[in-house]
Amino acid sequence: MTGREFLLDHLAVPGVQSLDGYRRAGGFAALTKALRSLSPAEVRAEISRSGLRGRGGSCYPSGLKVEAMAQAADPERYVVMNGEEGGPGAFKDGRLLQGSPFLILEGILLAGFAAGARHGICIIRKGAKDTRCRFQEAVGQMTEQGLVGTDILGRGFAFELRVEIGAGVFCCGEETALLESAEGRRGHPRVRPPYPVERGFQGHPTLVSNVETLANVPFIIDRGADWFRGIGLPAEPGTRVLSVSGHIRHPGVYEVPTGTPLRRVLELAGGARPGEEIVAVLPGGAVSGFLPARDFDAPVSQEGLERYGTCLSSGAVIVFSDRCCFVQVAQRLAAFFEQESCGRCTPCREGTARLREILEDISGPRRKTAGEGRRDAWREVPPPRPFALLEPLVETISRASACGLGRSAGVAITSALRLFPDEFAAHFERQECPRQVCWK
Ligand code: SF4
Repeated sequence: MTGREFLLDHLAVPGVQSLDGYRRAGGFAALTKALRSLSPAEVRAEISRSGLRGRGGSCYPSGLKVEAMAQAADPERYVVMNGEEGGPGAFKDGRLLQGSPFLILEGILLAGFAAGARHGICIIRKGAKDTRCRFQEAVGQMTEQGLVGTDILGRGFAFELRVEIGAGVFCCGEETALLESAEGRRGHPRVRPPYPVERGFQGHPTLVSNVETLANVPFIIDRGADWFRGIGLPAEPGTRVLSVSGHIRHPGVYEVPTGTPLRRVLELAGGARPGEEIVAVLPGGAVSGFLPARDFDAPVSQEGLERYGTCLSSGAVIVFSDRCCFVQVAQRLAAFFEQESCGRCTPCREGTARLREILEDISGPRRKTAGEGRRDAWREVPPPRPFALLEPLVETISRASACGLGRSAGVAITSALRLFPDEFAAHFERQECPRQVCWK
């Protein structure tokens, strides 16, 4: 424990999942404070001064977003909670949603008050039926107690909340794709600008916010921006809640102040499993590059990890030990992106399929089933054959794709190729898996 894990400490309070338990834990103190003694502009100023940044991957300053919403000419405004958490190793938003639904709902109300919105939509990933039912029940309880409706806490603030099912696909984590699916269309990302704060849900200004970001807002308003700025790095204050999974002794959800070395996160999660050695991590899940063991002192922060050529994104830390084959991991990541591509952009739709094929040709199973003819085809490609195709293909997909899925589809693959070139060469040239994981 670092002593600064205020979000997970809050989740550990007995009974905090219920409305009474949440109130006993100090819940709705921030909303009461905002409605009784602060103006919307003062709430916006406090969020801006706190330095809070989005936790969904963009790391965009929340204060700028809420201020842009407040300046919109259209009075019909929405706050949308992005609960479309997906992708390999991502599960910390689910823990927050289940652990303290009223905390997230209070965050939505505060964001709505600050931004001048009257409508809130909680989009919860398809498949998380229990969480969705719990949220519907929670919204009903808040309505009964005057915490949602036309005159909240008797202060004249009107806000309605509803709960919707998300599409349950990875690309709908992108905010404009999320809005498309919320409006009943296929979850294809929109061309930006205009950004959702200008034209979002049904054409109205919309603040789309990640679950963890919203969870921070009640604490900031209740305890103050100075308290929040006292935690973590000055440029990215606060904590980060991380889903830690993979080859680690205690997979789970952990919270650390920003700037904490990644090595400390691995220690909190119990370190390597018996008899194994951790070789690398994907600190931001499938959209990030591999961070090798020599760089585990890198800080948990977006800017800090970017200096190491990777990113934190939404904090899905996937751990890999010496028992895994990075060629096989790269192949599985390519298959994941091929499956999750929404198909709108040709470079992403076709390129991710080609990535998977190339990696299958390198790693063997496809070659084994397709016979030597397939392998012979590579003789047309100048040495080092398949490797020569991967990086230009990733570059093309990245440059020509409309959304973050396509732009990040090859990041982990190319970083694996750069970090473990001998493993890729051994698979293709000698048909050997140095870690003795693959079929060979
Ligand atoms: S980059 Fe891929 S996921 Fe994104 S819009 Fe294009 S096809 Fe769809």
